[in-house]
Amino acid sequence: MFDVIIAGCGPTGAMLAAELRLHDVRVLVLEKETEPKSFVRIVGLHIRSLELMAMRGLLDRILQHGRRRPAGGFFAAINKPAPRGLDSAHAYLLGIPQPVIERLLEEHAVELGAQVRRGCAVAGVEQDDEGVTVELADGEQLRARYLIGCDGGRSTVRKLLGVGFPGEPSRTETLMGEMEVGVPQEEITAKVTGIHETHRPFWIRPFGEGVYSVVVPAAGVSGRAEPPTLEDFQQQLRTIAGTDFGVHSPRWLSRFGDATRLAERYRVGRVLLAGDAAHIHPPIGGQGLNLGVQDAFNLGWKLAAQIRGWAPETLLDTYHAERHPVAEDVLDNTRAQMELLSTEPGPRAVRRLLAELMDFDEVNRLLIEKITAIGIRYDFGEGPDLLGRRLRDIEVKQGHLYGLLHRGRGLLLDRTERLTVGGWSDRVDHLADPTAVLDVPCVLLRPDGHVAWIGDDQQDLDDHLSRWFGKPAN
Ligand SMILES: Cc1cc2nc3c(=O)[nH]c(=O)nc-3n(C[C@H](O)[C@H](O)[C@H](O)COP(=O)(O)OP(=O)(O)OC[C@H]3O[C@@H](n4cnc5c(N)ncnc54)[C@H](O)[C@@H]3O)c2cc1C
Repeated sequence: MFDVIIAGCGPTGAMLAAELRLHDVRVLVLEKETEPKSFVRIVGLHIRSLELMAMRGLLDRILQHGRRRPAGGFFAAINKPAPRGLDSAHAYLLGIPQPVIERLLEEHAVELGAQVRRGCAVAGVEQDDEGVTVELADGEQLRARYLIGCDGGRSTVRKLLGVGFPGEPSRTETLMGEMEVGVPQEEITAKVTGIHETHRPFWIRPFGEGVYSVVVPAAGVSGRAEPPTLEDFQQQLRTIAGTDFGVHSPRWLSRFGDATRLAERYRVGRVLLAGDAAHIHPPIGGQGLNLGVQDAFNLGWKLAAQIRGWAPETLLDTYHAERHPVAEDVLDNTRAQMELLSTEPGPRAVRRLLAELMDFDEVNRLLIEKITAIGIRYDFGEGPDLLGRRLRDIEVKQGHLYGLLHRGRGLLLDRTERLTVGGWSDRVDHLADPTAVLDVPCVLLRPDGHVAWIGDDQQDLDDHLSRWFGKPAN
């Protein structure tokens, strides 16, 4: 019997497995595919995800495989640089092939002791008071205390639970791929300037090392059920731009729609959902993988606490309470971005107006904080603005704050040097550091780096330690 079975070894499942292993939870990941994904789609890791990687000591490893790009220009592909002074030590975007980030996360989980079984599709689920029985497609039955569906947008687990997935079906199909071109950049620029006023989504832009990212509407391309071909791209480019720019040597080609849906519940008893299994939306802004990895980061320590037996009664339910509204907000911003891609006169006018408004620092900052997920503030009740937000990677006497969070424990950052974490020291570290660059006396950080308490009073601190970390050990 495992503590947790995770269905799906995509980025969400792998991240969750690693987070659970930090707390010695016995984890089995079941992955339907026998081999890792082979397409080489480059995804963008945004600031908050890069921060999470830094918090678990993974960032250096990941940086070696990616390409840093400026953080701005992602909201509806409106070409505006990020505002100055973004509140992060990792204020850039990392372009990285999705199979590479998946491999690195899976390796991390396995190094920590997670078991991954490939070629195992979850096909049935039954739960009772003690646990969950998971049936595989070949009839084998496995038992665990909890099951987490990280099995993507068509999630079998979500369907087996009967959880509603309301939203909008796909209306517009788009072709997206990465390939080489046969003409100089200047020729491309000269031809495409102005085209996206009349055709959207449309772009052909360099993505590094001679590779171009190409996006064209799929309307008019036949064979919807088939994967797109290079000829489909050539045909669409010729129709729209009058030339196919000599595109060749595709790295990957895909077709996606703009279906937008959100699971009604993230938890049904001992079964929970995370990542695309819980929410789908168009890829504009590059947020899906980031959102899933961040779900896993929010859920991991809470589920581990439940299994280790110290979780306060309502802790596991805070996963839905915190993450469902975040996904709702992402869905909304992708809906807005899709409208802004329309070539109708009304949305075009709104796009021009928004582009002007983005010259105001506050507007630009709000939008980029949404896309990069650094603006998230969970509702922890009344308190200073920092309460419920993540704390940036500030300097502390040992170096960097995030370097102290690798083990996935809570942390009291104490500038007064007179507080204690007492009976919670098996779950929460204490750093007395009057030099920490903070404008409040002390903060209590959860294992996901969000600020759970601000203050300088021991009794108040103890109350909040109980709220998040349960009863003290003695
Ligand atoms: C064109 C395009 C561009 C994108 N660009 C970006 C980007 O730049 N940034 C970004 O953040 N996101 C991007 N995304 C979105 C991103 O790819 C997804 O959000 C992300 O893959 C979701 O991760 P996941 O682990 O939740 O699900 P998935 O990646 O779908 O993984 C689910 C896993 O579960 C397995 N599985 C399925 N059913 C079962 C079963 N019954 N039993 C066991 N295993 C099962 C699958 O084989 C798969 O390995 C893009 C998407 C598209 C289409």
